[in-house]
Amino acid sequence: MKVIDHIQAAKSTLFSFEILPPLKGKSIQSIYDGIDPLMEFKPKFINVTYHREEFIYKERDHGLLEKIAIRKRPGTVGICAAIMNKYDVDAVPHLICGGFSKEETENALIDLQFLGIDNVLALRGDSIKTEANFRPHPMGHKYAVELIEQIVEMNSGNYTTEDYQLEPTDFCIGAAGYPEKHFEAMNLTTDLIHLKAKVDAGASYIVTQMFFDNQKYFDFVDACRAAGINVPIIPGLKPLKTLEHASFLPKFFHIDFPEILSKEIVKCKDNKAISELGIEWGKQQSKELKAAGVPCIHYYTMSNSSSVKAIAAEIF
Ligand code: FAD
Repeated sequence: MKVIDHIQAAKSTLFSFEILPPLKGKSIQSIYDGIDPLMEFKPKFINVTYHREEFIYKERDHGLLEKIAIRKRPGTVGICAAIMNKYDVDAVPHLICGGFSKEETENALIDLQFLGIDNVLALRGDSIKTEANFRPHPMGHKYAVELIEQIVEMNSGNYTTEDYQLEPTDFCIGAAGYPEKHFEAMNLTTDLIHLKAKVDAGASYIVTQMFFDNQKYFDFVDACRAAGINVPIIPGLKPLKTLEHASFLPKFFHIDFPEILSKEIVKCKDNKAISELGIEWGKQQSKELKAAGVPCIHYYTMSNSSSVKAIAAEIF
């Protein structure tokens, strides 16, 4: 079932969450161990992130260095299929532009269709560590909007590699939104112009980047509505878990902690304390969002479902 149909059929705020494929070599049991505790809250869909290749240098004979591409977290599509099979819940694979030609994207979408996957979250992806800026595949897409356009064309039977009509796919497409602005955007206004382009191209809903200040989400929704973006906007929440999160999350995701939270964070002496704070903060955020009638609350588990479970137990 499509995410947009779940949202439209819902009588109250839905629960969903996002997982990362395990590091290469770990079994799928680690995925099930993360999902099992959350199934009692009846998630309507589970997102699975996509991680593109990284380049490493391996030393060879005579001091020569060989550049090798590796993917540390492969398996997005297989995990989606396994989740749908084991839990009878919809899986939403993330599909990115980075590293994909249009034909590879097309083939990936064909795989998803054959597996009965109805949804994709269409993203650009970030630059790889060895590149200062995002570099698209020479035969691929520069922005997520172009990926969305390709999926919409396939939904009409127009494949990039054929000149004649083929059997149409029927994907529900989600797109990413940034209450605190995407870090490359000149300002929030231009970012919203680009977000609207994704919706106009065919994205049925938006999932936000994590935020710790609900007011930023509410302001973002108001700004989206004023800009003519009228699709559901699903807030994304991440419970703080470790002391490292205090600097890692702002640095990696380009978000701010509200002052009141940062004052509490500095009082935390160990991971246990910050994890408890993260659960409390997550509960407060979730309660307020639910009371405001948001369509769904989407939790970034980042391989940690215990905090999400503690929050969900009080909210759902
Ligand atoms: P875009 O919508 O293409 O926007 C990227 C930047 O380009 C923005 O600054 C935008 O304003 C600008 N822009 C857009 N169109 C134009 C245009 N026509 N002209 C000029 N500028 C333009 N990354 C992964 O690698 N794997 C994942 O699984 C993953 N999951 C994510 C899930 C969520 C919910 C979110 C919020 C992000 C996720 N990301 C993931 C990160 C995402 O790939 C990065 O944030 C990336 O830098 C931007 O992706 P996007 O789809 O928002 O890009």
